[in-house]
Amino acid sequence: MPNHKEALSILRQTLMDELVLLQSQTDPVELDQQSIGRVSRIDAIQQQELAKSNYRAAALQLKEVIAALSRIDEDEYGYCEECGEDIASARLAVKPEVRFCVSCQASHEQ
Ligand SMILES: [Zn+2]
Repeated sequence: MPNHKEALSILRQTLMDELVLLQSQTDPVELDQQSIGRVSRIDAIQQQELAKSNYRAAALQLKEVIAALSRIDEDEYGYCEECGEDIASARLAVKPEVRFCVSCQASHEQ
């Protein structure tokens, strides 16, 4: 499945770039009362919180992408980790790092 490998490699690079960018946005907010007012300080803190939660989500996705790439190398890619059935190729096209088929994913999210 060379197309999935390529998609995953691109996704991995995109996520790594995103993590670097988000990392820089999670730096402690400069609490300089002289230069910024109270409202923009709250704003800056909210931005930082958002960056942190985006960072966590991207880091998690990157982990899944790397795991999917190693499954391709081991020839285990495209099967549901829960039931062992093939994962629909349309599903893999949208989210190439998925580990479960639709029905197992649904039961995980309950
Ligand atoms: Zn399944």
